[in-house]
Amino acid sequence: MRIDIVTLFPGMVEPVLGASMLARARARGLVDIRVVNLREYAVGKHRVTDDYQFGGGGGMVLKPEPLFAAVAALRTEDARVVLLDPRGRVFTQNAARELARESHLILLAGRYEGVDERVAEHLADETLSIGDYVLTGGEIPALAVTDAVTRLLPGALGAEGAAERESFASGLLEPPQYTRPEEFEDLHVPAVLLSGDHARIGRWRRVQALWRTWRARPDLLETAGLGSEDETVIERFRRGETPEDIEPSGHHGAAREAT
Ligand code: SAM
Repeated sequence: MRIDIVTLFPGMVEPVLGASMLARARARGLVDIRVVNLREYAVGKHRVTDDYQFGGGGGMVLKPEPLFAAVAALRTEDARVVLLDPRGRVFTQNAARELARESHLILLAGRYEGVDERVAEHLADETLSIGDYVLTGGEIPALAVTDAVTRLLPGALGAEGAAERESFASGLLEPPQYTRPEEFEDLHVPAVLLSGDHARIGRWRRVQALWRTWRARPDLLETAGLGSEDETVIERFRRGETPEDIEPSGHHGAAREAT
């Protein structure tokens, strides 16, 4: 897969690409990520990339010509052009999965008050928002998309199948995780996790995942494809029962249920 990030601030993007999972995925040749300086596609002595907006109103707007020129230079037959924009479709794990099936993404990072509308209308295949808040530029959103997409590429994560076990993969938030020590300042790991009883551990994790999702993101339950046992568990939460009532964690961690 190839990902081009078109930005006025390459220096904001490059360090993130040079660390951790993204650096490893690049080194292994799983993804070819290129940072493209938009200014190189601006013309004239001063290579101007922004201008005042028509109709008045404060702030500068990114001009269309450099973005059209950059995409013309980078485009391959299968390229999908994405403009990062707070008004776009919200980027979710499903959207990441969809983009991970592409062979070439061109991510356009906006700046200032935004981008000339002709880019969204006639150049980009779609606009994506990373959430209902406004950042100063599209670099962090482009990196968020790049990270979420790259870690879904086969071989990008160390542990086999790790991406399938994470939050959203099953439609639910992930259950709690613990590591050593078993006891830390009188805080115990739930005993069920030390029991070696994998069926019980599986049930406990499922109830915890349902609880977390029900508490923090009930909207996800609508599309999570719950089975009848899951529905029964949710019904019991509605009646005031806790995960501890439904699938006890064992004597150690019983006092510390998930919140
Ligand atoms: N005036 C614009 C508005 O109100 O919608 C905000 C422009 S913002 C300061 C500058 C650029 O940052 C945008 O063009 C976009 O590329 C990027 N950006 C900011 N917030 C974003 C978000 N939540 N998702 C995706 N891109 C975002």
